[in-house]
Amino acid sequence: MQEIRQVGIVTGGASGIGKAIGKELIKRGVHVVIADMNTEQGHITAAELRQLGGESTFAKVDVTDAAQVEELVYGVYGEFGRLDYMFNNAGIAMYGELCDMTEQNWKRIIDVNVWGVIYGVQAAYPLMKEQGFGKIANTASAAGLGPAPTTAAYSATKHAVVGLTTSLHYEAEAYGVSVSCLCPAFVDTPIFDSGEAIQMDKSKVIAQVRKQKLMTPEHFAALAIRGLDKNDVLVNPMPLRRTMDIMFTLCPGLH
Ligand code: NAD
Repeated sequence: MQEIRQVGIVTGGASGIGKAIGKELIKRGVHVVIADMNTEQGHITAAELRQLGGESTFAKVDVTDAAQVEELVYGVYGEFGRLDYMFNNAGIAMYGELCDMTEQNWKRIIDVNVWGVIYGVQAAYPLMKEQGFGKIANTASAAGLGPAPTTAAYSATKHAVVGLTTSLHYEAEAYGVSVSCLCPAFVDTPIFDSGEAIQMDKSKVIAQVRKQKLMTPEHFAALAIRGLDKNDVLVNPMPLRRTMDIMFTLCPGLH
């Protein structure tokens, strides 16, 4: 068994917010396991984190597959004898009005954004309960706290993540486990360009988003880690009113 102080898993860690969280964990001397379905980018990110002077490895995982997530979490626990952080962060975006989304679209986004989080929690939480410590952070979104025009399916999945996370937060406290929900609003990552299922002109959505003031992933990750330190139930850096104002500006002229 390796001699290591702490270990953390970040799903969706190859890019964007997950990658920035990895950097924050490295600063704390945590061994970071980048878990992502993008093998090429995952290896690149783990190498970047090692260049910062820390320990990082890559594990290829599709979070929609419960067995893969379980194997990841049990594998890390078996190797290090502990699990300090579990970031269930992998997610996808979809743009389109509710009735325009096909059943296949709905199933896909629920699989990644909701089941991906549930599988991560179901694997990590019992281990953390047993060891009596650990921090779980599930990435939802400001779109999980209020209306998010043009992203009904995405918003529905993120509301689910807020609900399951905030419920678990209060159950977990008694076992020394911290469970938090990260609710970023507009963070400058590739997610806006990679959003699936466009029933409307995606470029208009992206153009509107880019006009807004985007937070850097590094800034958001620093806030996220600080929130976890305080055992905050919700980490929501932008006032909800401002988030809603921005979201409603995404509405006009989309068709
Ligand atoms: P990103 O596209 O940069 O990163 C997402 C990562 O998740 C990618 O590396 C991708 O390969 C991975 N991924 C996707 N599906 C996966 C799967 N099935 N299994 C494993 N890995 C998978 O996007 P990001 O902005 O960093 O998003 C991270 C999280 O933050 C997501 O849950 C997203 O919904 C949430 N979020 C982002 C913003 C924002 O403004 N960027 C706002 C609110 C919420």
